[in-house]
Amino acid sequence: MSRKDFLTSLKNFISSDSIITDPDIIAGYSEDKSTLYKNTPKIVLRPSNKDEIIKIVALSREFRRTLICWGKGTSVTGSCLGFEEDYTILSMERFNKIVEIDRSNLIAVVEPGVITSDLKSEAQKCNLFYPPDPASFESSTIGGNIATGAGGPSAVKYGVTKDYLTGLDVITGRGEELKLGGKVVKKSSGYNLIDLFVSSEGTLGVITKIYLKLLPKPLNIFTIYITFSDIFYLLNSVNLILTNNILPISIEYIDDTALDFLNKRFNLPDSDKSRGSLIIQIEHDCEEDKEYLLLKIYNIVSSLKGFINFYPIHSSSKEREIWSARRSIGEIFKENFSIVVKADIVVPRGCIFNVIKEIKNFAADYGVLVSCFGHAGDGNIHINYLCDKKILDPSIIQNTYSIVKKYGGLPSGEHGIGMVKRDILSDFIGGSQISIMKEIKKIFDPDNILNKSKIFS
Ligand SMILES: Cc1cc2nc3c(=O)[nH]c(=O)nc-3n(C[C@H](O)[C@H](O)[C@H](O)COP(=O)(O)OP(=O)(O)OC[C@H]3O[C@@H](n4cnc5c(N)ncnc54)[C@H](O)[C@@H]3O)c2cc1C
Repeated sequence: MSRKDFLTSLKNFISSDSIITDPDIIAGYSEDKSTLYKNTPKIVLRPSNKDEIIKIVALSREFRRTLICWGKGTSVTGSCLGFEEDYTILSMERFNKIVEIDRSNLIAVVEPGVITSDLKSEAQKCNLFYPPDPASFESSTIGGNIATGAGGPSAVKYGVTKDYLTGLDVITGRGEELKLGGKVVKKSSGYNLIDLFVSSEGTLGVITKIYLKLLPKPLNIFTIYITFSDIFYLLNSVNLILTNNILPISIEYIDDTALDFLNKRFNLPDSDKSRGSLIIQIEHDCEEDKEYLLLKIYNIVSSLKGFINFYPIHSSSKEREIWSARRSIGEIFKENFSIVVKADIVVPRGCIFNVIKEIKNFAADYGVLVSCFGHAGDGNIHINYLCDKKILDPSIIQNTYSIVKKYGGLPSGEHGIGMVKRDILSDFIGGSQISIMKEIKKIFDPDNILNKSKIFS
């Protein structure tokens, strides 16, 4: 059965403006933000209701064609691209409605193509708070955030996307609609099928509706920028803060390599001498509370070796600049190096110091520039190897994962597995878990049409 027949059958139930075959438009779906792979799909579909999706899934089963959901393509693991020469993209861009902000239940009901920042703003208008904040929150979708298990700086206090998920409507690879959970925020009623869809990368079903818990808006949020003469001194402070009865919203860190590039674009404090910086965000009720927390954090960090300075950020423009600098690190590396190899790994929080030290040491032995930055508060390190002209020696990545494994870590903290980490996942979690995942996949998608060969082969 040919692609031509597939297209003819599609036209029986979906309007022609929802079927894209124009190479110029399709080119926009041939790369994600990993920029490691390029593969142009032959067909892009833009359904506008779930009945169309049910029929598309059924037809894809009949034609045994791979179907890959697309949120906004900001994935950094190749998860929204196909391996095959001929496959279909199911773009969720028309599923972009915030259906309801239900104030009485503190629940948002959204379609999967809603941009994360749009939901955050809409919740804010109702004096409510949707905390998850991946750095891509102005471009990624809620559906993509669930499918990749996305998180962000506020995970220290508020957790990640999955912690807000109370319900999902999905269409499985069998073409069956499942309504999982809903507006209830607690449940103890059999297997938790909702969580199976978190980090499932579109391999089990197409998410068509999402129920998310909202919180009351925090009263006040305050940012502190702290500079150190060495990243290793800075890392010591994280555990001290957390074990002294302080739970910041976020504790982010920037290393010397990243600062060297950020300082060319941003006006960050102590740019001439800082070789590592911490960005801490705290929540407080009143001025007195704020002063108390500031003093407590100051006393902890200022007693540490390598401490340079402590900057409570009073102006909102400065605060925006600091967060914008933190969120730009990945993009700035891409602008400055022809090859950026990323590893978003996670280790138990107390091991960050040792893991970064080992990684920086062996990168120096190989003569490769490396940056380790990210979420100090939850053990999630973004490792970026930066090369110009020269291809990165593959043993560097193997060594990186060996170190992460040695410390009890995992190959991905928030970006997912996709294509990039598919071949190393079983080293971390073992063959038995991969076999169980494959059995689960078969239940939801017996003909293996949904995002084939991602996460495991
Ligand atoms: C500059 C930048 C900063 C980033 N910062 C962060 C960060 O701080 N934290 C973080 O976690 N990630 C971050 N990312 C990675 C990326 O933004 C996230 O993985 C995001 O969740 C992907 O969302 P998307 O809508 O672009 O999904 P896509 O990239 O389009 O798709 C991602 C996966 O989700 C699946 N999918 C999408 N929609 C659906 C659906 N409706 N049903 C089923 N499956 C679906 C796709 O098939 C694919 O497997 C960043 C990326 C960039 C470029």
